[in-house]
Amino acid sequence: MRQLMWRFADRYDLQMLVQSARGVARGPVARLVADGGRNAHEWTARKNELLSHYDASGITAAFMEPEEGGFITGPKNLALALAAFELAWVDAGAATGALAGFLGLSPIHERGTPEQLRHYMSLAAPAKPGEDRAPWRAAFALTEPIPYVGVDTGMLSGKVSVAEWSPGAEPVLQVEKRGRFITNMGFANFVTAAVDTADPRIKSSCLVILEETDPGTFDRGTPTKKLVHQLSSTSDPIFSLRVPASRIVGGYTVKDGVIVPNFDHSQVIEAVFRRTRVTVGVMTSAKLLSAVEPVIRYQRGRFRGAEQAAPGSVRYELGIQQREDALHRLVDVWAAGEAGASLGFATARLFDELDPLERKKDAALAAQGIGGMKATMKWMKALERSALELLELEAHPRGEKQEARIAELRGDELVRFALLDAQANVLCPATKLWNTGVGADFMREAVSLMGGYGITEDCPGFLGQKWMDAQLEATYEGPEAVQRRQLSVTMGNPLFLAQLKAWVRELRHLSGEHPGLGGCVIASAMDLWLWTYRHLERSTDADGVKLVQSPRQGVTFKLADALGWLVASRAQILDAVVLAEEGGAVLGEAHAGTARFFADLCHAQAARTAGEVGRICAELVHGYNRHPSWDAEGRAACWSASDADALEGIIPGLAGCSVDVLTEGAHPDKEGPCASCQGISDFRSLRVKVDGCLTGAMLAKDRAAEALSKVMIPEALDYPL
Ligand SMILES: Cc1cc2nc3c(=O)[nH]c(=O)nc-3n(C[C@H](O)[C@H](O)[C@H](O)COP(=O)(O)OP(=O)(O)OC[C@H]3O[C@@H](n4cnc5c(N)ncnc54)[C@H](O)[C@@H]3O)c2cc1C
Repeated sequence: MRQLMWRFADRYDLQMLVQSARGVARGPVARLVADGGRNAHEWTARKNELLSHYDASGITAAFMEPEEGGFITGPKNLALALAAFELAWVDAGAATGALAGFLGLSPIHERGTPEQLRHYMSLAAPAKPGEDRAPWRAAFALTEPIPYVGVDTGMLSGKVSVAEWSPGAEPVLQVEKRGRFITNMGFANFVTAAVDTADPRIKSSCLVILEETDPGTFDRGTPTKKLVHQLSSTSDPIFSLRVPASRIVGGYTVKDGVIVPNFDHSQVIEAVFRRTRVTVGVMTSAKLLSAVEPVIRYQRGRFRGAEQAAPGSVRYELGIQQREDALHRLVDVWAAGEAGASLGFATARLFDELDPLERKKDAALAAQGIGGMKATMKWMKALERSALELLELEAHPRGEKQEARIAELRGDELVRFALLDAQANVLCPATKLWNTGVGADFMREAVSLMGGYGITEDCPGFLGQKWMDAQLEATYEGPEAVQRRQLSVTMGNPLFLAQLKAWVRELRHLSGEHPGLGGCVIASAMDLWLWTYRHLERSTDADGVKLVQSPRQGVTFKLADALGWLVASRAQILDAVVLAEEGGAVLGEAHAGTARFFADLCHAQAARTAGEVGRICAELVHGYNRHPSWDAEGRAACWSASDADALEGIIPGLAGCSVDVLTEGAHPDKEGPCASCQGISDFRSLRVKVDGCLTGAMLAKDRAAEALSKVMIPEALDYPL
């Protein structure tokens, strides 16, 4: 069923990976957590053993191309997300440990020279049968000690300078870098480190590869005293090393006696984080879904053992689940987990589609001799126009001529690239922001459903630890503010906004065929968001200051949060549609009931999303108007009773959009000062529409709750306490 929903039913390689990652998670990882492996900060021998399990199970090789020792052909974003999901189901620290090596390799994978790629990938690949070598482990060092700590790539204190440069020879670089919170550092053989230039003979910042045997200091530093993710190794390393200039990631050229890195550090990091943040989001969702079974087991057995709860009685069979609240809250946890997983996997799949197109775009730019930021942006603008034209035509196709043009534009891979790129730029930070931030809140809810047991080490499914861990997932690879900042730029891209509009139509269309998924709720909430965005873009606050602008995080960050809810719900609905349409072949008789249940989860989630979006939009639309007072100016903004009556005569119901009306020149005492509804009547209708779209949402929740009370679970968890 999951293979269908997350679209890997036709991928045997991914199914095998899921199976083996699940075996590692529920075997050695779970045993280590149960044995108290999380109680030490140090990288112990037993934790180190996990690395060989990752190698043996194919997790390590999942990152590599077949010619480098891997087994998956083509892009691997979905593969890595699935492996992370399986490991995080038991312990997200283990998932992070398994994936951090990929983070270290990613700069080389995304921007490395062909020689760097070949060299480091094959060193990092697990040994083949008969080969006697240990795979090299990688780490990624961006973050630096306070005050430069953080993934805000604009600031760096690590430095690179020229140590030696004999005529005709390869320059030797001196690298000074202190890392902070660097994963895998306890055992990494090499590190990709971000450094800024400290020498006029080096043009810009860059990423540089440091090996443990390079001359100088390769100090791994002291382990971080983490409260979370203790199954990965983290420390604050110190590097002072001499390395050949060929270690600059992506290579360099020499121009007028100056080393010019082909990529500065932020170009490399952008390409890396763009993909790896999605996997982190998937981890938190895995934990929410993993919490459902232990909570059900606890809730059902809650009263057993008491004299009043005799076998066969409702109290004995259902425990706390005989009451609505426990069930409704668990429905919320489950629904949020589904939405997050759907969003994460959808984004991973999007990157799988985008990766080859991005390479085609790079090739097209190179073939046309276009380089540099300005020229590239101009080229992208032209592409954007074609993509917008396609969206416009698709919204209103008229006649053969248009159909031919639509087919032509759809067939253009670069147009496709532009469309997907605009989506990916939003969906990646949205996954990281929504899945981890909102996920951490829902994880608390899951823990609360276990009462006191939830915050003990004995809690089945390690729920308390998963709750704590969720905060780290919300933090690393850029905490919430970093994701919101990125979203506030990317969500305003006209190509994204036009696609969002197309999604509204898509959801309304789907709702016709699949009512009861909440598609209409999300379409209406998307409309409300779009209206709010456009309105705020044109508006100022009561002091005349522009609302949508970069320093105004109070506005844009809230819109980013609302968008996260919307895209997560949409992804969940699309997955539920696949289940409804294709699940019959897999589920047989159980199909109708299962599809109904997942539809109800969608609907419940959509209702919550609509509430969040409505709240945020209303606050922003109304909140920046100064509340009028009882003075002459304030009263001037009000409607007079005679005006209202006159308007009512022309358009029945219009007067109703004013909240307060002056009667005979004064306000009734309790109604207080009034605000004019000038210019926002559309908002009011849209908001009322969203509320109306909640029709049936609680019925869906009741149905999901009822089904939840009947969900069959095994007698015991399939991994230790
Ligand atoms: C266990 C662990 C492992 C890690 N592994 C690695 C690793 O392998 N490699 C690596 O390079 N790094 C690693 N990190 C570092 C991690 O990426 C950073 O800690 C993380 O991105 C948060 O940055 P910060 O700690 O500087 O927080 P800050 O950026 O100082 O954030 C503090 C608060 O301020 C907010 N904030 C930050 N900037 C802004 C802004 N401009 N506007 C508004 N609010 C803002 C944040 O949202 C947050 O709420 C790891 C961290 C941990 C804890």
